[in-house]
Amino acid sequence: MFRLVNINERAAFEYDGSWYDLAELSGDTMLADPLVAVARHRELHALYGRCASEPSGGRVVDAALGAPVSQPRQVFGIGLNYQDHAGESGAPLPPAPLTFTKFPSCIAGPTADVPLSGDMVDWEVEIVAVIGDDASHVATDDAWGVVAGLTLGQDISDRAVQLTGVPPQFCLGKSFANYGPIGPALVSIDAFADPDDLALWCDVAGERMQAARTSQLIFSIPTLVAYVSSICRLYPGDLIFTGTPSGVGMARGRYLAPGETIVSGADIIGELHNPCVAGTGPLAT
Ligand code: ZN
Repeated sequence: MFRLVNINERAAFEYDGSWYDLAELSGDTMLADPLVAVARHRELHALYGRCASEPSGGRVVDAALGAPVSQPRQVFGIGLNYQDHAGESGAPLPPAPLTFTKFPSCIAGPTADVPLSGDMVDWEVEIVAVIGDDASHVATDDAWGVVAGLTLGQDISDRAVQLTGVPPQFCLGKSFANYGPIGPALVSIDAFADPDDLALWCDVAGERMQAARTSQLIFSIPTLVAYVSSICRLYPGDLIFTGTPSGVGMARGRYLAPGETIVSGADIIGELHNPCVAGTGPLAT
């Protein structure tokens, strides 16, 4: 197993509360690049074992963590992938994974500020699958094999932008700067007792808003990888936001406000802490 983090745009391991620079640990400067590290995920299991006997770079709590994959080539989002969330959205269950783009420029670290683009900005906690291989037409049964690991994400959504017009504008409404915080670590699949059954939750301003398990996904992570890869070629570091459970603000008539902090959590992976600050809305048209 391994836990991969990003410190100063360099790939590092998190081990026993400390961090270890991959390039220094391995003597291979190429492994400093987080995307290279993800692409070489099969090597990382053995390398992770060296952490126990090597000096660390410091304590993780004292480091500023970036997104474990900060510059993915492609970021996919899946809508309405929990039955209770589809219900609260008043939408019929999609016959196939409802897939949209979060543009990669929205990806941010686990403690990044979220500049709010308006007064209808919403939270969506989600497990994020990180692709590890160059992959096309992956069979469902083989799909976990091309996943480097899992991380946690927020699919922050400006509902006013997202739901302007028909059909809706998912891609832009979910792609403002820092609307895709992920982390704190990319955790290899073998670290999970059952990678298809993780608990995830989201608190806003101290109130529990969302709590679910990925065993409730309508389309499982292997199904999503198989489906998306049947259409788009996938690359190491690509992200699939797998959908959010019920409890979003839109269903509560309550949205994010400056000064509030979004705390998201998942089994094994850890937590994101994202403070909301005032931001800039879209150009009025
Ligand atoms: Zn979402």
